Amino acid sequence: MQYLSTRGNAPQKSFTQILLGGLMEDGGLALPVEYPKISAAELSAMRGMNYRELAFAVLSKFADDIPASDLKALIDKTYTAAVYCNGRPDSNAEDITPLREIEPGLFLQELSNGPTLAFKDMAMQMLGNLFEYALAKTGEHLNIVGATSGDTGSSAEYAMRGKKGVKVFMLSPYGKMSAFQTAQMFSLQDPNIFNLAVRGVFDDAQDIVKGISNDLEFKTAQRIGTVNSINWARVVAQVVYYFKGYFAATKSNDQEVAFSVPSGNFGNICAGHIARMMGLPIRRLILATNENNVLDEFFRTGVYRPRGSAETHQTSSPSMDISKASNFERFVYDLVGRDPAVVRELWSEVDKGGAFDLSKTPYFLRIADYAFTSGSSSHADRIATIRRVWQQYGVMIDTHTADGLKVGLENREAGVPLIVLETALPAKFEETIVEALGEKPWRPKAYENIEALPQRSTVVDVNVEQVKAFVVANS
Ligand SMILES: *Cc1c(COP(=O)(O)O)cnc(C)c1O
Repeated sequence: MQYLSTRGNAPQKSFTQILLGGLMEDGGLALPVEYPKISAAELSAMRGMNYRELAFAVLSKFADDIPASDLKALIDKTYTAAVYCNGRPDSNAEDITPLREIEPGLFLQELSNGPTLAFKDMAMQMLGNLFEYALAKTGEHLNIVGATSGDTGSSAEYAMRGKKGVKVFMLSPYGKMSAFQTAQMFSLQDPNIFNLAVRGVFDDAQDIVKGISNDLEFKTAQRIGTVNSINWARVVAQVVYYFKGYFAATKSNDQEVAFSVPSGNFGNICAGHIARMMGLPIRRLILATNENNVLDEFFRTGVYRPRGSAETHQTSSPSMDISKASNFERFVYDLVGRDPAVVRELWSEVDKGGAFDLSKTPYFLRIADYAFTSGSSSHADRIATIRRVWQQYGVMIDTHTADGLKVGLENREAGVPLIVLETALPAKFEETIVEALGEKPWRPKAYENIEALPQRSTVVDVNVEQVKAFVVANS
């Protein structure tokens, strides 16, 4: 399988060639030259597969330059009950992403039972093993530099800890993460993990990372890499659980389902789009946003208007506080008939801080052909949803999943199973759970006393040179 750029001006590459990279040379995102199609016979064979077998069936179509036996070994090492064991006491960890039917035809798919209790572990754990494998082949090493406000950073650290050839330098705003998130990251004692607490806010940390990325000489000399959500391997690893959820919710392959997806950077739902393009019978992809409703606005009106940080609300589903969806360009490339000239034109506005409007173009009508629909949710909606689901079903859900459930139910169709993707466990968002339910959320066993563990971090100023010096000294 070869990969092209959504902007059309970069040479095609193989899976392992794009594995360690970010943007393509022309600023576009990598996509396969065509989506592999799953035949009816293949789909029938897949129905009986466990998660690892499904992962191999899907990923071997995209990562065909990795020898099959190697890919299989990497998958078998990643998707184990021991790694995805943090679910509710009655969840079956062997299922990796267990499906919980909370009322007939309404399901939660548990994607957040991995080490950091958020769905990002689904792909990031695989990425850690892929990176280690690829680096060992070439004898190279990689210094991952990133900024986090919580979820992505911890997911990356737990995926890369102890991996040969990889070091992680993760910047976070000093004193601004929750006690739980801080403990999760700073209690890691692995020598290849470095937590840098920046005396500033998240945007300051992000600016330092940008400053480092823009220094091409430094970047090349120090072998700087990223694990951000535009990474293709992350997107494609997420395709697998759509298959798993589909088979678990249906009895035969002539049934269709709907997925409701709490969305921010459009990475999760992009994987759903790809699963559907491969032939998985998905009737609806329901995109849920919080108050930061840039994507909902696009699917309703055809206007895509990313916002700056000043216009981005801080909400109680913080991992969706995103106003510029980094994976959205992948979907738009398909929507405009895979014409890179159109994408270049649209993003010439976006990259300048502008917007585009497809409402008066034929593309807008095609959104329905791609099965997308959308809605948004507010803090009051989250509180009400968390409370109702707890009272009605005895199931405690987190704030992001609540956004997905609220919008999913608004778009539910009779007779179509609705699968709401659970993207985090409530333990990560204790404050809002207490506000909704008057009690603290349950915690997975491994995290019961995490705040009491010894912590390790280095405080730095908002100063690119200081961070660069730290990387050089420790790489
Ligand atoms: C990252 C994240 C999201 C958003 O996923 P995208 O792939 O960025 O759309 C939703 N919920 C949680 C808990 C997350 O960590």
